Amino acid sequence: RRRAPRAAREPAAAALSPPVPAPILDVRALRKSFGPLEVLKGIDLSVRPQELVFLVGPSGSGKSTLLRCCNRLEEPDSGSIRLEGVELMDRACDLNAARRRIGMVFQGFNLYPHMTALGNVTLALRKVLGKSRREAEEIGRAALDRVGLADKAACHPGELSGGQQQRVAIARAVSLEPTLMLFDEPTSALDPELVGSVLAVMRSLREAGMTMVVVSHEMRFAREAADRVVFMEGGAIVEEGPPAAMFTEAQHPRTRAFLQEIG
Ligand code: ADP
Ligand code: MG
Repeated sequence: RRRAPRAAREPAAAALSPPVPAPILDVRALRKSFGPLEVLKGIDLSVRPQELVFLVGPSGSGKSTLLRCCNRLEEPDSGSIRLEGVELMDRACDLNAARRRIGMVFQGFNLYPHMTALGNVTLALRKVLGKSRREAEEIGRAALDRVGLADKAACHPGELSGGQQQRVAIARAVSLEPTLMLFDEPTSALDPELVGSVLAVMRSLREAGMTMVVVSHEMRFAREAADRVVFMEGGAIVEEGPPAAMFTEAQHPRTRAFLQEIG
C-alpha cells in the first residue's frame, strides 16, 4: 500500500507526528441553499493525503454542489473549508492561490476546440502560472505522456475520442501540480468502451499518490481503487466506510438499496 514507503522514508518524523496525518481537505458544517432549496445540509468531509474518496449518491443529492463549493466556484452559505490548513472561507484568503491547488475534471471536457491538445494543456501553465512557452510545452508534453497521449500533442479535440479528450483535460489539471483533484462524473459522457482508458489514468494518478475526490457511478472502480466510499443523499452524508464494508454490509438501508441498485 502507498503509505508504507513514506513512513519508511521518514522514520523520525513518523515517530514524532500524530498517527493520523493532517487532512489535505477538511470541510466542516458546510451549508448551501439555492433560494428555498437546501442543497447541502451541514456537510463534514475530511480527505487525508493520498486518499481516494469515492462520493456517490442519487442524482440531485448535492455531490456536484459540494465539489464546486470546495474551491468556492459555488459560494457556500456557511461552514469551513480548509485546504492544507488554510481556511478558504476567510475573507482574507487568497482564493486564486487556493484554486490553483485544486484540479477539477468535469463530465464535459471543456477543451478549446481551436487549440491542439498541447495548446490546451499549456494555456493555464502560461496564463495562470506564468511559465514561458518553452517550459510550459516541456511540462505539457510530460503531462500528456502521463495520460498516454504523447503522440496526440498536435491533435485538435475534434480529432480525438471522448476518452482521449477527457485524458487531455486530466493532463491539463495535473500539469498544474494540484494538491487535490476533484472529479465530477469524469466518465459519464463517454461511450462504454472509452471509460476504461480514463479510469486507468485515474488509477495511475492514485498510484502516484494524488489525493482525489471522485464522484462517479463506476462501482467497480470504487471497489478496486477507493480508500473510502461516501454515500450522500438529500444534501447530507448518510454513511461512509471502506468500499468492502460499504458494498457488503452498509448499515443504512438507503445506502444498501442504492449501492445494490447501481452496483
Ligand atoms: P448531484 O450532483 O448530486 O446530482 P447537484 O449538486 O447538481 O446534485 O444538485 C443538487 C440540487 O441543487 C438539485 O436539486 C439541483 O437541481 C439544485 N441545483 C444545483 N445547482 C443549482 C443552481 N445553480 N440553482 C438552483 N438549483 C441548483
Ligand atoms: Mg452532479
